[in-house]
Parts: sequence; structure tokens; C-alpha cells
Amino acid sequence: MGRVVVILTTAAAVVACSVATVMVRRRVKRRRKWRKVVGLLKELEESFETPLGRLRQMVDAIAVEMQAGLVSEGGSKLKMLLTFVDDLPNGSERGTYYALHLGGSYFRIIRVHLGGQRSSLEVQDIERHSIPTSLLNSTSEVLFDFLASSLQRFIEKEGHESISSQDVKRELAFTFSFPVKQTSLSSGVLIKWTKGFAISEMAGEDIAECLQGAVDRRGLDIHVAALVNDTVGALSYGHYHDPDTIAAVVFGTGSNACYLERTDAIIKCQNPRTTSGSMVVNMEWGNFWSSRLPRTSYDIELDAESLNSNDMGFEKMIGGMYLGDIVRRVILRMSQESDIFGPISSILSTPFVLRTNSVSAMHEDDTPELHEVATILKHLGVSKVPLKVRKLVVKICDVVTRRAARLAAAGISGILKKLGRDGSVGEGRRRSSDKQMMRRTVVAVEGGLYSNYRMFREYMDEALRDILGEDVARQVVIKAMEDGSSIGSALLLASSHSVRTISNI
Ligand code: ADP
Ligand code: MG
Repeated sequence: MGRVVVILTTAAAVVACSVATVMVRRRVKRRRKWRKVVGLLKELEESFETPLGRLRQMVDAIAVEMQAGLVSEGGSKLKMLLTFVDDLPNGSERGTYYALHLGGSYFRIIRVHLGGQRSSLEVQDIERHSIPTSLLNSTSEVLFDFLASSLQRFIEKEGHESISSQDVKRELAFTFSFPVKQTSLSSGVLIKWTKGFAISEMAGEDIAECLQGAVDRRGLDIHVAALVNDTVGALSYGHYHDPDTIAAVVFGTGSNACYLERTDAIIKCQNPRTTSGSMVVNMEWGNFWSSRLPRTSYDIELDAESLNSNDMGFEKMIGGMYLGDIVRRVILRMSQESDIFGPISSILSTPFVLRTNSVSAMHEDDTPELHEVATILKHLGVSKVPLKVRKLVVKICDVVTRRAARLAAAGISGILKKLGRDGSVGEGRRRSSDKQMMRRTVVAVEGGLYSNYRMFREYMDEALRDILGEDVARQVVIKAMEDGSSIGSALLLASSHSVRTISNI
């Protein structure tokens, strides 16, 4: 009996020892895996770092590239396109105008009525629709017929007091969010598609003519009277409400900026024919490139697999179309190099499956258990990960978005530097009292990324204060505007009409 007890006790001890050993081994393995993940995260943070010194170098590089792009055609990756917009709306415009805005993800149609003073601007109707993905690689006919049919439905809704019953042709501004070489305010040819559009054989086509053709084929009483880049629309809207507005930036599916430049600084344009002495320049800053940009292996892979590789390098670091995909690539790499996300999910390997609105939802998830993160990961085929892994995902979103927002702030500061409004002119000699004399400068900002992603806005504001210093930053007002580019394009068309009417008298 005594022997049996001894044997059983020994056996139990052996089992307990083996279980303990297995558990310890597992724990050691888990710790080692986690250490690996911590190492990967550290690498990620380092490669995405944007220290102030680097941002300042970028500011200088942007100002230099802007200058180079103004001197000669092709002088810089910044195209610095002429817009033929010299007078911005001021509030005195009158009439009813339309705008059709083709963005990267949405198209909008609006009708505005202007009563001759700022307070009388009335947006009478506005529609906003997603662009069907089938259009992105369709044909020119399909795209423009789709836009014309949407316009037709829009105007068919109008009541009896509609403009057509007054026997006046509808005047429409076409707000277009892709690079165009303008030949006048009302015409211009497509340089290239961006943001996932790939409609063949359209480069070199007159965009306004394409829309006018589709509108005419449907017998619509619409005159496509202006072709306006979305940033220029946003600047017009900003200026209409606040004459200190001198630049506009869009942070939506893609990113771009425009600003008001002195015509004598636009050296590549021999005969600018403006009365105001200035012209709005569309920078097409999505294509900005500098060796100072913190380019990582994720950016290189994303670019290589994109439809427009070696192009739009800046946009691919800050545009809403891309941030989600950068985050996805980081999570995928981590799940390949450690198994903290469980078995590798095939969904996670699908490009663009993680969208930037999900990134902001995860980043701003304030539930203690990070429920939103869990739900979004589940949709990506990653389920039942512990809280510390969910926290890791939030950190990844933070790293990617913080870099984007800081680069965006460097971009804005680059424009201010070019205009001598960044407070750096004669910095050595400038006394703090002079800094307080800095002119108030308003930058109009619009786009879904900016307006819907609080952390992006906060990081951008913080970086602007870092770069410019508190005194100068206080004079720089970032003004967010919803639908500014569509409304602003209609305002611009109205103001070009009033100029024409006055000069005809
Ligand atoms: P478009 O680029 O067509 O003019 P928007 O300016 O509305 O349209 O921008 C849409 C883009 O904004 C989306 O593709 C997405 O990248 C980004 N976005 C929209 N909502 C959010 C959000 N909640 N959080 C982060 N980004 C968002
Ligand atoms: Mg837009």
C-alpha cells in the first residue's frame, strides 16, 4: 500500500513538473515573441519619425521646389500649374450657378444662389454620391455620360421657378480633383490620372469639352463655363468669406494645395495677362519629392504595387486613400514575423481592404476594451486577439497618422515660407515685437481626412506650432470648410462673370 502511494505521489510530481515546464516554456516563448513585436514596433517608430529638424528641412525643400517649378516647365516635381484665376470672389457676386465636383471618392452637384452680399449665399441644393468603383477604369464615354446623367437627374428635380424657365442657360463650374494643364479658366487638358483612376487614353483630352460633349448629347441646357481644380475652389470659398485667405489645402482621398502668387514670380509664364498682379497657382503638391521625406519599406512597397508607381510620393504618405493601406501593411508584416495576430489572414493581404476611416475609428476608440479595434480586426480576419495586441494596433495607427499630419504641416509651412509669412524672414534681426506685427494669414482646408479625423487635425496643429513657433502660429488661421471646393468653384464662376460683365460695359 505504502509503495503504491509513493509511486502515485512520484507520478503526480513528474506530471506537475512537466506541466510546469511546458507552461514556463510557453511563457518564455510568448515573452520572446512579444519582445520581437516590441522590437518591430520600435523599428516602425524610428522609421516613421519626423523630428523638428527634419520637418524644417522639408519646409525649405518645398519652398525651393516651388520656386523651381515657377521658373520653368518641368523645373520641379511640383508642377506649379497656372490656373488663370487672378481675381477671387469677394462677396459681391450675383446669380444662380452650378458646380459638379469629381473628387477621388465622391462626386457632388450643387446649385447656389448669390444675392450680391456674403450673407446672402444660399446653397439651394447639394447632392453627394460615392463614385462607383467600376468607373475608375472605364472609358471616357462611360465616365462623362455617368456625370451628365447625374446632372440631368439633378436639374429635373428643380421646381417651376428653376433657371430654365427664365430662359437662361445654366452656368456650371466643373470642379476637377486631378492634375490639369489649364489653357484658360474654362478649358484644360488632363495631365494624368491619380488616386486609383485609370481611364485609358484620356491624358491630353480637354476635360471641360468632354463634359460639355456628354451634356450636349443629352440635350441639357448647361454651359460648362469653368474648369476649376478642387483646391482653387476651396481657396475661392475661403477668400469669399475672409480676404486674408491666401492658400488652400485639400486632405481627402488625395492631397493638394494652391496659393495666390505674384505674377512677376511666375517666371515661366511670359504673359500672364492679369489685372490684379497675382494668380492662383495649383501646386499639385501630391507629387512633391525630397530625400528628406521619411520613406520606409512600407512606402516603397505601396508605391511599387500602385497603379502610378514613382509618382505622387507625398500624396502616398498623407492622402486618405493610402493611410489605411500603410497601416494594413504594418499589421500584415507583424503578423508574418510573429504570430501575435494568430494565423495570417488572407483578407489582411488584400490591398486597400483597410480604409482610413477604420484607422481613425480604431485610433480614436475610447472604450476600455477597445471594442471598435476588435470589430475592425475581426473584419480583417483577425479575431480574439488580447487587449495588448489591440493596443498595439492603436499605436500603429498613431505612428502612421502622426507622420502624415506632421508632413502635412511641413507642406503648409513651406507655402508660408515661400510667401515670406512663416516668420523666418531676417530671423536673426527680427525682434519679438516685429513678430507680433506678422500679417494674419488664413489657409482654407477641406477634405474628408481633415474634417473626420480629429487626431490628424491635432497632430497637424501641434506640428505647425512646432515649426512656426507660437507667435507666428497665432497669426496663421487654419479654416476648415465643408464642401468649400464645390461651392467655391460656383463662386469663382460667378466672379469671373461679374468681371466680364463690367469690362464689357
Ligand atoms: P474626395 O476626396 O472625393 O473629394 P473627401 O474630401 O470627402 O472626398 O475625402 C474622402 C476621403 O477622406 C476618404 O477616401 C477617406 O480617405 C477620408 N476619410 C473619410 N472619412 C474619414 C474618417 N472618418 N477618418 C479618416 N479619414 C476619413
Ligand atoms: Mg475633394
